[in-house]
Amino acid sequence: MTVSQNEFSLIERFFFNTGKSPFPVVLSQGDDAAVVDVPVGKQLVMSVDTLISGVHFPELTSASDIAHKSLAVNLSDLAAMGATPAWFLLSITLPKFDEVWLSEFSASLKKTSNQYQIELIGGDTCRGPLSISIQVSGLVDQNNYVNRKGAQLGDLILVTGELGNAALGLAYLQQRVILPATLIEPCLEALNRPSPRLELTGFLGSYASAAIDLSDGLVGDLRHILDQSQKGATIRLDSLPVNDFIRSQQEYNYALTGGDDFELCFTIPTQHKDVIDEWNDKNPQCKLTHIGEITDRNYELVGNHKTENLNNWQGYQHFE
Ligand code: ADP
Ligand code: MG
Repeated sequence: MTVSQNEFSLIERFFFNTGKSPFPVVLSQGDDAAVVDVPVGKQLVMSVDTLISGVHFPELTSASDIAHKSLAVNLSDLAAMGATPAWFLLSITLPKFDEVWLSEFSASLKKTSNQYQIELIGGDTCRGPLSISIQVSGLVDQNNYVNRKGAQLGDLILVTGELGNAALGLAYLQQRVILPATLIEPCLEALNRPSPRLELTGFLGSYASAAIDLSDGLVGDLRHILDQSQKGATIRLDSLPVNDFIRSQQEYNYALTGGDDFELCFTIPTQHKDVIDEWNDKNPQCKLTHIGEITDRNYELVGNHKTENLNNWQGYQHFE
């Protein structure tokens, strides 16, 4: 859009020179569009996600957390594809040009984009209710992307990290749950500052038959893999990586149906079982947990001496 000279200088100040790509940028901000070189032998992987204030983050979220989360959720999609981040575009709608807010947003966006080596090469700036749209591009070696449709009978189902913390953080902010003091900080961190699991890119490219990132809760997101792969699955309640609060209170819905974890769920052929422990020994910050197996038809949750059918499932009833 056309903005005033004054506003353009703010855009220049806050949205130029953000992140550095290991891949070539021919032309970035300042022209009508950006130009990049896709290296020979690579394919471009693209995704876009929009975050709207009050919908995708609570209205009181800090500018710094909003910037981090907007980029992180997009990087998480690249991670799920086994792609390496390269470039991004930012379309931001702002209620007003608030320099303090923008400098906090910009500092955080620069930090996260540097951390994950992704470069901002263009965007758009509009007036209106706060919303942030980021379009990310990443690269994979020719046809070495991971998608949702390759899960095979007998494959192991793995997830990264701990599940349910982001949903617990949101429930805490909305005063729907009372958390033990030690869990407040980690759950708010999980909600506001998710870690895209890009360290797994090489691992997924080598071993994964299918992958998805967990934005809407394990049961629903794993179902996407099962639908596309035309398979079933059994997952075990006791194996789910959850915090002590969820385990002791049997509040498994946070992990099973809670959103916003941005962990990865993926499948590997059973002959690669040994690489799980090898990975975990070397990468304690991104622990893999084996939670179940791909089956030929039914989608089931096993635990507490019963088996629940996860098709048309209404959530975990801990009081039964
Ligand atoms: P145009 O009218 O051609 O769309 P704009 O005034 O929207 O131009 O943008 C001018 C330049 O600044 C463009 O190169 C655009 O990519 C860049 N730009 C605008 N807003 C942003 C933003 N939020 N983040 C990054 N780059 C931006
Ligand atoms: Mg524009």
